[in-house]
Amino acid sequence: MDNAVAASGGRLAEISEKVSHGERIDAGEARWLWENASDAELCAMAETVRNRFHAPGTCTYMVMRIINYTNVCVAQCDYCAFYKLPGVEGGYVLSQEEIFRKLDELLALGGDLAAFNGGFNPHLPLDYYCELFTAIRSRYGDAIEFYALTIAEFLYLADHARLSYAEAAARLKRAGVRWITGGGSEILTEDFRARHSKFKYTVAEYFLAQRAILDAGLKTTATMVIGFDETLDERIEHLERTRRFQDETQGLASFLCWTFKPYFTQIGGIEITTAEYLRHLALSRIYLDNIPRIRTSVLTQNERALDGLRYGADDFDLPIEDEVTQKAGATISLDFERMLNYARELGYSPQYRKVSGNVVT
Ligand code: SF4
Repeated sequence: MDNAVAASGGRLAEISEKVSHGERIDAGEARWLWENASDAELCAMAETVRNRFHAPGTCTYMVMRIINYTNVCVAQCDYCAFYKLPGVEGGYVLSQEEIFRKLDELLALGGDLAAFNGGFNPHLPLDYYCELFTAIRSRYGDAIEFYALTIAEFLYLADHARLSYAEAAARLKRAGVRWITGGGSEILTEDFRARHSKFKYTVAEYFLAQRAILDAGLKTTATMVIGFDETLDERIEHLERTRRFQDETQGLASFLCWTFKPYFTQIGGIEITTAEYLRHLALSRIYLDNIPRIRTSVLTQNERALDGLRYGADDFDLPIEDEVTQKAGATISLDFERMLNYARELGYSPQYRKVSGNVVT
């Protein structure tokens, strides 16, 4: 046998052994797996970690809507096709009535989760958000749950209102907020942010805010976006920071990775393949051994996202709208049954995961 082949097999066996014994892999091992392991080998290791949290063949899903309440933004990320600078034609802010109409539609389609995602709009004071969230709680009670903001928007909001992160989180909590998601993370390295989104806060600020959100008694999640110009080391650094934060807080309810849609963006480029996305999903499941729920992105990968269930994911959204990714090329299907049938054909039994009713998920 060729020496290189034997050495490669030995390394794979060594890492695989660690994973099957519940030991953690390090950044060097993650790099090695990415560069050398086959899809089948990655899937097998991801499955081993997944099975520690979920019975084989099970998975969950939610029907949700992303509500882009404003597209006005001063952050100017070069990968964004959604925003309008203040004063530019086409900028908007949704009224409460328009948002209620979207929430009513969501309920009619059988969904119960709305995720608010807008821009850094300097014309919206903290009161806009507090009044909106109070009104939603008062109108819908626990029938709908909402992810109030992403961490990136939360950071801007707190700064704009000249509040500490703790004070801003407390104010939002009093307005009925229970969740602020880990959105706006993209790739959590300072270098990536300096290259593409220098007004979108540093990685250090991101985690400080997330910690304040948890300290205030709110819930949060981890996210990631791949497919820009990030290096493999940057992807692994993102996973490492996420794992470390989870070690310290145990506060991340889930991890969701999706892919960059380049159309109509300043940086442009071409989309990464689904095959690359799925491999990354498997690597994430193996690396993030302390996050039970790993989610796969139907929004950016459509039906093929469900193949992610074989690559370590256990949960997915069926989204009905997201202007941010749709503007950059994402397409959405409301044929939920077709999607669920595909999951069944793969050998999984999808169960609806209710997030409303103040259920801790
Ligand atoms: S990605 Fe978000 S923060 Fe960046 S420009 Fe777009 S809307 Fe603004």
